Amino acid sequence: MEFGHIIINFDGPSCSCGSRGCFEAYASIRALIQDYARLTGINPSDLSRKIITANYFAGEAAAMEVMERHLDYMAIGITSLINIFSPQKLIIGGGISDAGNFYEQEISRRVAQRAMPDTFSNSMIVRSEMGNEACLLGCASRVFSTPMLFHSNNSY
Ligand SMILES: [Zn+2]
Repeated sequence: MEFGHIIINFDGPSCSCGSRGCFEAYASIRALIQDYARLTGINPSDLSRKIITANYFAGEAAAMEVMERHLDYMAIGITSLINIFSPQKLIIGGGISDAGNFYEQEISRRVAQRAMPDTFSNSMIVRSEMGNEACLLGCASRVFSTPMLFHSNNSY
């Protein structure tokens, strides 16, 4: 499943999957950097999540605006998932998950305002302990924990 490609705006920006208006097109690090670049005129290749987060903590207006918008987009997508699945735990991974405790706290606060109370009452939003490498490590663990798929039955 690719939750990042839930369409939240039928007429939204192009997405890496070929569709338009996907959650990922709004809530990814790439989208955060593009948003900040558009607002400041800085070349996106000169920016990073760390620069924007540092400017956000320093109270810079553009960083505050784009981070607030990013957090709102994250909360919208996560709220939709919680309203559907009511998970016990929702783990945020990816490039911004190591940004600090504020990240899941701000998202949790926003989700609590929007989610259906019964669906969120037993849910917890946390950051991945593995940071940005969580997906890669998960894939690797599947490879090493899966019995060999191919083996030779040749008897010569
Ligand atoms: Zn997409």
